Amino acid sequence: MLKVKNIRKHFYQQEILNNVSLNVNKGDVVVILGPSGSGKTTFLRCLNGLERADAGTLEINQQEFDLAKIKNKEMLQIRRKTAFVFQHYNLFANKTALENVSEGLIIARKIPKQEALKLSKAAIEKVGLGAYEDYYPHELSGGQQQRIGIARAIALKPEVILFDEPTSALDPELIGDVLQVMRQLAEEGVTMVVVTHEMSFARDVANHVMFMDQGQIVEEGSPSEFFTQPKEERTRRFLQRIL
Ligand code: ATP
Repeated sequence: MLKVKNIRKHFYQQEILNNVSLNVNKGDVVVILGPSGSGKTTFLRCLNGLERADAGTLEINQQEFDLAKIKNKEMLQIRRKTAFVFQHYNLFANKTALENVSEGLIIARKIPKQEALKLSKAAIEKVGLGAYEDYYPHELSGGQQQRIGIARAIALKPEVILFDEPTSALDPELIGDVLQVMRQLAEEGVTMVVVTHEMSFARDVANHVMFMDQGQIVEEGSPSEFFTQPKEERTRRFLQRIL
């Protein structure tokens, strides 16, 4: 469904991604792990053009694009098939939860307002915040704001949702509700690629784990193999430190 091959990215003179590839099938939950600075977020951002890759190909629903030569219009096509959940939620401070969710549907997707509001309300219900649709971001907890961020992604009905460390800005007691929403989406078969440091989510919910270091994939596989029988010394050291 989503295939990326040999993505490369430099910032200034520094190589950040060195031939990173990934295959995502419909319904997959892929978790990307790795130490700080290993390129996880940059890779995720390259998947929907928030960051331009220097090289590599991206295929989504049998349409292949050369990322080195991709035109803005084609990037927009890719972006329409994906949705991004940001670490810091990126909600509009002067819009209510409902407006935050419906904005993209009305402006970018050109869905008539009444229909957009209906889809947005359903998405907000889904993340358990039906009673808060008229609240502004500053009236919501961090966890609630992130659930609105997820509702915004769901409402777009994308092929795949890309989550960039969705819980790492949250106080520990607020993380559980966000992870619960993500688990529910996974159970419903939503295709997800998740950069996270939440090992329990990776172990229990992912069906594929990819471990990156210094811009390269060190090891990947099923969570059961990855966590119990890591093949690479680098992976073993990482797991020893965090588990
Ligand atoms: P973390 O877990 O700490 O978020 P990460 O694995 O997601 O780390 P990235 O955020 O992808 O890592 O960053 C990888 C490297 O790229 C880092 O050295 C970072 O400083 C650099 N980098 C990221 N974005 C930019 C940018 N816009 N300009 C310059 N360098 C950048």
